[in-house]
Amino acid sequence: MKRIAIFGSTGSIGTQALDVVRANPERFSVEVLTAHSNSDLLIKQALEFKPNVVVVVEEAKYSVVKEALQKEDIKVFAGEEALEQAAGMDTYDIMLAAIVGYAGLKPTLKAIECGKVIALANKETLVVAGDIMVKKARQTGSALIPVDSEHSAIFQCLVGEMRNPIEKIILTASGGPFRGKKPNFLVNVKRDHALQHPNWSMGAKITIDSATLMNKGLEMIEAKWLFGLKPEQVQVVIHPQSIIHSMVQFEDGSIKAQMGLPDMKLPIQYALGFPQRIKNSFPRFDFRKFDTLSFEEPDTRTFRNLALAIEALNRGGNLPCVMNAANEIAVWAFLRNRIGFLDMMVVVEKAMQKVPFIQEPTLEDYFNSDAESREFAAELVKL
Ligand code: NAD
Ligand code: MG
Repeated sequence: MKRIAIFGSTGSIGTQALDVVRANPERFSVEVLTAHSNSDLLIKQALEFKPNVVVVVEEAKYSVVKEALQKEDIKVFAGEEALEQAAGMDTYDIMLAAIVGYAGLKPTLKAIECGKVIALANKETLVVAGDIMVKKARQTGSALIPVDSEHSAIFQCLVGEMRNPIEKIILTASGGPFRGKKPNFLVNVKRDHALQHPNWSMGAKITIDSATLMNKGLEMIEAKWLFGLKPEQVQVVIHPQSIIHSMVQFEDGSIKAQMGLPDMKLPIQYALGFPQRIKNSFPRFDFRKFDTLSFEEPDTRTFRNLALAIEALNRGGNLPCVMNAANEIAVWAFLRNRIGFLDMMVVVEKAMQKVPFIQEPTLEDYFNSDAESREFAAELVKL
């Protein structure tokens, strides 16, 4: 029995992870559930899965959660610090890191310090402080198992390859809802249109990141840290059908791909069950129903976020952290109709120019760079 702590249980990844747990009660039990503010869903989940601990970050929601669970043997905590404390508990085995954005960094670092297995969905943590996370994981024996579908694909391609070096990886991208569009179209794009992803149903932030291609940029940096790659070993190709989830090319030129229908439950289940594959009844991919799998170059001139992320990948230091913070503010502002679609890329670019570059940042430097970039970006979008 694996005891799971789901950080961000009320989100898109969190709820799908609970579907996986529900379908496999003999394999998984839930030890911790956390949410930012959706107390209704958190309560419902707690009553069903009977964790030992729940955390609601928004402190105003504490009493309603506490009251609803008072007849249960469940401890309830509130606030940001409680997240870190829960991450440090010794009664769970695997943390599913499914908080969105920078907010997941401290609890995830805590779990790594404790040597836990991390099923990692929260890619922004690796973008911000990948070097520190990877180094710490090596010291404590903590394993980072990707949940992101592309990285799960690469991870699956590497199983059984022992130490065969990677020549390069090829990250596939659907291209999002605006594939092929140009700036004269994008300038008028509104929130609701950008939230309609052609292949995946996900949380709001990653859906917007997919529309701007920032998501693929974040994933390039995520891949660098997860698989110990040089920037030039990470390539992106647009693959609109989202059937090939990513590929690894080895030094003999052979390419391995992992394929399947786009359904996050599969990489979530793989990460939680690793090294075992768990039988399920998810819909299967049928080659006879797809006559084309196609590939094209990403348009980094129009989708400048991807070019900016490649710059951050190449230069390293605190630049990915600065980029991520500005992007979180830009997406937030776009989702509230405060700025336009193309403005998001301007905010990110300006922040990357403004915040001083640090080649070898400490954790403290990352905290400061994040704060500085956020503050600058917030001024730009007039918060
Ligand atoms: P979501 O917005 O649906 O859910 C986010 C979760 O984090 C919620 O439970 C929310 O309560 C919690 N949360 C939000 N802000 C918080 C804060 N400040 N402090 C503590 N908790 C907070 O997001 P999602 O789509 O499930 O994505 C989660 C992570 O997984 C992201 O990093 C995303 O990039 C990654 N990811 C998601 C998908 C997907 O299909 N949704 C695929 C690949 C990777
Ligand atoms: Mg992905």
